[in-house]
Amino acid sequence: MPTYKRAPVEFARGEGARLWDVDGKEYLDFFAGLGVQNAGHCHPRITEAIREQAGRLVGVSNLYYSEPGMRFAERLSESSLGGRVFLCNSGAEANECAIKLARKHAHAKGIGEPEIVVLEGAFHGRTVATLAASPKIASEDLFGPLPAGFRAVPRDDPEALEAAVGERTAAVMIEPIQGEAGVHPIPDPVIAAARKACDASGALLVLDEIQTGMGRAGSLWAWQQGPARPDVMTAAKALGGGLPVGACVTARGLEGVLEAGEHGSTFAGAPLAAAAALAAIDVIDDPSLLGRVRELGGHFSDGLRSIDGIAEVRGRGLMVGAGLADGLDPAGIASRALDAGLVLNVPAPATLRFLPPLVISEAEVDKALEILGRCV
Ligand code: PLP
Repeated sequence: MPTYKRAPVEFARGEGARLWDVDGKEYLDFFAGLGVQNAGHCHPRITEAIREQAGRLVGVSNLYYSEPGMRFAERLSESSLGGRVFLCNSGAEANECAIKLARKHAHAKGIGEPEIVVLEGAFHGRTVATLAASPKIASEDLFGPLPAGFRAVPRDDPEALEAAVGERTAAVMIEPIQGEAGVHPIPDPVIAAARKACDASGALLVLDEIQTGMGRAGSLWAWQQGPARPDVMTAAKALGGGLPVGACVTARGLEGVLEAGEHGSTFAGAPLAAAAALAAIDVIDDPSLLGRVRELGGHFSDGLRSIDGIAEVRGRGLMVGAGLADGLDPAGIASRALDAGLVLNVPAPATLRFLPPLVISEAEVDKALEILGRCV
């Protein structure tokens, strides 16, 4: 179905932060498959893990045990909230799990029609429930009727958020940095207000780390640099080292909310994808790599600020958005950059977004800045 507007290029090969098209032309990849290839294209450790597991056991049903998925779930829990993990295959599916968990948790407290508070500008996925949780797309009303039970508040107003959380609230769901809206970090006071309101009401704080997680913002999870620890975290995109892996992770105390038979997913946690995910977290959960992400992110953002025509630079680590000066055409800039061998993305009006692989070198960052200087 024609659901994607594609750029006129066909990629054939990738290595680190570089891509080659079918004619052999080389590109610097500042999109990384929309924040998926955080370890770089074809990282040798991930490639080897996939190769080895593909020859041993690709998949079995979740009605049985298999080691890679269990090891990965344990590793993910230890690296984040310490509770239990539901593995799945995408970000939207991870958020669906969080929504079901929050609603069931609320039902157990006698809340008949629980509500989830979300932020304006949020993007939580494209399934019917996660669309309802994404206020802008929900308001376009293409796929109604959408499920009820979501309430949107401004993304920069801690008082409005606190006022929206009440007896019926099952959860507050937030992306620490809104990616699809154009890279907008949520101010610390808003996240702190969400934590405070959840603590007061017994609602769950759910952080959607699907785009911000796996090192993208300069820590394994973006919340580790912020003011609050969530009760539930969702992850996907870079989690599987390029294979489709999502996860919903709980804090301790919420392990038993979803019980046997209440949720599931055929492919989830299969050995092949889990082996890739284990290799990816091994590569990325490395203090020196994460430190470089913060340093190179600062260097790249400073370089963007010095380009005439870029009015604002937002983000953290290597999740960076540039607001363009009035009158500049982002699609034209992205198209000229692609011709010049730089892949970038336009997520929102007047905005360029940069999500390079985290293994990128300083020389590659400088080359991208030089191309951008010309194209902007
Ligand atoms: N949540 C956030 C913050 C995202 O950025 C995305 C995808 O861009 C999703 C959820 C949905 O993930 P998926 O496309 O894997 O379903």
